[in-house]
Amino acid sequence: MAKKRISQQTQNINQQLKQKTSQINEKGVFLYNEPLTISEFAKALHHPVTDIIKYFMKQGKLFNQNQILTQELMLELCLEWNIDFEKAKVVTYENLLENINLEDDKKNLVTRPAVVTIMGHVDHGKTTLLDTIRNSKVTNQEHGGITQHIGAYQIKTNNKLITFIDTPGHEAFTEMRSRGSKITDIVVLVVAGDDGVMPQTREAIDHAKVAGVSIIVFVNKMDKPNVNTDRIMNELANCDLTSEEWGGDTIFVYGSALKNQGIDELLEAILVIAELKELNANPNRFANGTVIESHHDKNVGSICTLLIQGGTLKVTDIVVAGSVKGKIKRLINDTGKIITKAGPSMPVQVLGFETAPTPGESFIVFNDDKLARKVALVRQTEETNKIRNNRQISLGNLTQDVATGELKQINVILRADTQGSVQAIVQAVNKINVNDITVKFIRATIGGISESDIKLAQTSRSIIYGFNVRPNHVIREAANNAGVEIRLHNIIYKITEELELAAKGLLEPTYEDKIIGQARVIKTFHFSKVGTIAGCVVINGFIQRNSKVHIIRDNVVIYNGEISGLKHEKNDLKIAKKETQCGITIKNFNDLKENDIIESYLVEEVETK
Ligand code: GDP
Repeated sequence: MAKKRISQQTQNINQQLKQKTSQINEKGVFLYNEPLTISEFAKALHHPVTDIIKYFMKQGKLFNQNQILTQELMLELCLEWNIDFEKAKVVTYENLLENINLEDDKKNLVTRPAVVTIMGHVDHGKTTLLDTIRNSKVTNQEHGGITQHIGAYQIKTNNKLITFIDTPGHEAFTEMRSRGSKITDIVVLVVAGDDGVMPQTREAIDHAKVAGVSIIVFVNKMDKPNVNTDRIMNELANCDLTSEEWGGDTIFVYGSALKNQGIDELLEAILVIAELKELNANPNRFANGTVIESHHDKNVGSICTLLIQGGTLKVTDIVVAGSVKGKIKRLINDTGKIITKAGPSMPVQVLGFETAPTPGESFIVFNDDKLARKVALVRQTEETNKIRNNRQISLGNLTQDVATGELKQINVILRADTQGSVQAIVQAVNKINVNDITVKFIRATIGGISESDIKLAQTSRSIIYGFNVRPNHVIREAANNAGVEIRLHNIIYKITEELELAAKGLLEPTYEDKIIGQARVIKTFHFSKVGTIAGCVVINGFIQRNSKVHIIRDNVVIYNGEISGLKHEKNDLKIAKKETQCGITIKNFNDLKENDIIESYLVEEVETK
């Protein structure tokens, strides 16, 4: 039985990997991706070949049945014959963890617990609320379990389970989202009754909305004397969260995390929303889910917390998370108990990954060691390439995407000095009218650019505009690391002009050198065939083969050139990371000396000044 299940899973994955993408699916929708010949296309759409040939003949195009149809021509035919079409999701080894279709037959689905994240402004009581809920309702309390902080926990109320992600704060939440994984079903937005809606409250709302997650408002600190619930309802209504008492559809619960008041009502509200959302999963298959936390322990190796989203995870399962493979050695639940399996919505700590996977990565159980190894390997290579090609979110890049027709909307986050500027810019930009390209403000508020803006820009692929505001070096660096472009202006007209050009796909990019790393020459070796090889150690960033280099001697650039070889011992490297030793050769340059600095850089597009 088990064997059959294993071979079925492998078969299913292999099938999806091989699946032809351009075909008609079971709903009658034509999925397009790779071009087909006229005869293949006709067969897929159950149409006579001659019809297609005749159709083109009328336009003066003489095609035979072996003619390959471009995507445009296929779509033209679909429109002509009134057939729905959709871009196909291609499953490859690189995107398998995210793109594989694990959709389960409806008859195999059972209800699963809701997964809840608590968000809100600092000091409004998120941690206290998480602790209070946990202390009063921990599932295994009766077993005398010890509280283990593993990044998430489950409680039982009214005989139903609820999973809480135990990492309050928007960073963790958006971090996960920016990796494309969706783990939360419901956000509990904590608002202190004596304080009201604050900047991070608004940020939390923005993030939850982008993620399409249901929000329940918990008005906390109701035990304090100076609470004003009307004011809070009013402020939240201005953020599109209108309470049910006021005719809206957002559940508001009032209480005190500190005094354990309103907690039962909050849990009740979560169960109501969970029921409405009909959350379910199939427990009877190999597991998949998301990495919540992970770290390396020098005694036991990598320890990580997984949230199971479908299927059941068991000891000895072979699993890949991100680019890391593992074989589950031990499962530990949130009360520190060793368990043998974990089902949907359950957080579980596991031992057995070869290295610590990155939180936010998806994982899948494979039970085919070869396949798992291949997926992990392909993804490792891809990660290395990504460091190289890290595609920036820049207006220039978006312009290109507009020009190629890949993008129909340019997302913008705006920070300005005054409310008046915000309004003026939004109005001016909204007047931009270019074919069917729109400019959308994901967020437009007053104040300085924050790290949360950068995270939001990353998840929503937005350009950040600062109007009469200046980001400090911490923010600049964060934006740089995240590959998000910040554009600064003090004339409204400049913003509209730029965005209009971008919407037309006409913004011209400019380029600048981006330093990616430096290596110090330790020793030099001279060979008549290859010239000088510099034995180096990478002192910061990384050195990349085929990148350009500055050779720096005593703080002066003495040569500009290109790397022609990068090796570690006898092996060719694509990248030499920080602290590794490597041998570097420079094209047409042999005058390297000890203590020279080899600075590797890429030429990248930058904001037009
Ligand atoms: P977080 O930053 O949102 O995680 O907030 P904390 O949970 O750390 O709480 C911030 C402060 O508010 C702490 O001093 C808590 O004791 C206090 N606090 C939290 N909830 C309540 C409450 O319901 N009533 C009162 N009076 N204080 C609270």
